[in-house]
Amino acid sequence: MKIFTTQLPQTDKFEEFRESMNRKGALINKAMFEALRAYKRNMAREYFELSVKYNELYELSNHCAICPEDKQHPVFLLDYWFLQDLIKHLTPHEDEEVVYITGNDYENIKMPYRIRNIKLEQQSVVYAKATAQSCSDVLIDLCERGYQVQLVAHSHPGSGPEATCPSSIDINYLAKIQDAGSDAVGLIVTRDGYARFFSVRTEFEVSIKGKGVQHVQENVFKIPLV
Ligand SMILES: [Zn+2]
Repeated sequence: MKIFTTQLPQTDKFEEFRESMNRKGALINKAMFEALRAYKRNMAREYFELSVKYNELYELSNHCAICPEDKQHPVFLLDYWFLQDLIKHLTPHEDEEVVYITGNDYENIKMPYRIRNIKLEQQSVVYAKATAQSCSDVLIDLCERGYQVQLVAHSHPGSGPEATCPSSIDINYLAKIQDAGSDAVGLIVTRDGYARFFSVRTEFEVSIKGKGVQHVQENVFKIPLV
């Protein structure tokens, strides 16, 4: 089981990455049927769950493959499940919350999936300010692990797509990050499931996989909540 679980293919070449994911998916399926043949149903179930994950990754990578190659700006690929978790994470109470999000990237394709909390020194319904120490701790940790901040996400009070509009503080904060060389993009969510991606200096694209996700306006999505 261990041989399948943690090791994503290590390669910079996107085609190789896709191919090796495909091969690994086939191996897992084979292992699942062998487990079933041996009546090891619990093991077969575990392989099935793993197979579903690999299937999702492969679908995402197919999506990447059809993106035109000459696009140099970042293309963010997310799934609705992660965004559901993120919205829950960012709206535990009525105050604003801020997090950094990182993930894998392959050339200009970014797949954000990991949330890194930062400590807030001021927090209110409409304002959250992270401590400089906490931001740099997270950035150093990410850098040491070979990751970068892909999204700077926070929550806003209110509801509907308009509640996700960035404030001047949000815009200035992101501008500072992008001026420092980061191509991280801002993300603002509301507890009723709206998510707006925004940028000050760089162009980007967002694609969200999942049934029921509505593209409401440019870079604004409605995520179905559970
Ligand atoms: Zn804000």
